Amino acid sequence: MKFLGVDLVKPKVAFFDFTSCEGCQLSIVNKEDTLVDFLSLVDVVNFREAISDHGENYEIAFIEGAISREDEIQRLQKIRLKAKVLVAMGACACFGGVNQLRNKFENNLSWVKIEVYGDYPIETNSRVLAVDEVVHVDLKIYGCPPSKAEIEKVVQMIALKKVYNYPKYPVCMECKANGNVCLYDYGKMCLGPITRAGCGAICATAKRGCFGCRGPAEEPNLEQLKQIMLREGFTKEQIFERLSIFGGFSDKEEDAV
Ligand code: SF4
Ligand code: SF4
Ligand code: SF4
Repeated sequence: MKFLGVDLVKPKVAFFDFTSCEGCQLSIVNKEDTLVDFLSLVDVVNFREAISDHGENYEIAFIEGAISREDEIQRLQKIRLKAKVLVAMGACACFGGVNQLRNKFENNLSWVKIEVYGDYPIETNSRVLAVDEVVHVDLKIYGCPPSKAEIEKVVQMIALKKVYNYPKYPVCMECKANGNVCLYDYGKMCLGPITRAGCGAICATAKRGCFGCRGPAEEPNLEQLKQIMLREGFTKEQIFERLSIFGGFSDKEEDAV
């Protein structure tokens, strides 16, 4: 690729999936209107969901999924050694995602295995970890799944050696900008006041309360939100469950009860 006659070097990027639904990777490939532009910016050498090459020569590694087995820890550590920049992509990679719910049953996992997998042999008993609990993470892309636009923006910033600034304000800001009536007025629970914006308040706009997939906004006021939730008739158990789903509020769940 050339710009004003000068060769531009495209960064070599690789995508790796761990314990995940692969929805983050899918969000990259399924928005075709910007796919060609995205591919012109980078040289994709490894992306199991999209190409058959398995190149090992990469500079930027995107990690999708939580880390839930010993072999995944070793595989992730090898990737970290090769990558100049390692990006945790999606709620599973950033916080453990829905997978980290398993940790709540770690003292009594056997009935969960039977309930979910029946007779199929599942051997692991290890805790589910976010990527940064295993290796150093240079950047995080939030959401379940993250928006393709945000992934592309982050890649663009890495290629230009610039810092990507995430919104620090909460989802409520985007929700009000969309002209929505607050869901609490309809008796629905919503984590918008404490969750990092950037999704366009997509759930709240669809009349579905925010589940906090992007994790905490800067300085989230959980205590105030808890008071509102209790006043609106939600139980502490309901508040705890809502905060627990993606793992982004794991250090705050206990404060809610
Ligand atoms: S963050 Fe969401 S979309 Fe991405 S792998 Fe996890 S569950 Fe799937
Ligand atoms: S619906 Fe949710 S995101 Fe929207 S203003 Fe109310 S609390 Fe905030
Ligand atoms: S509204 Fe909440 S749950 Fe929905 S995408 Fe945004 S951060 Fe995630």
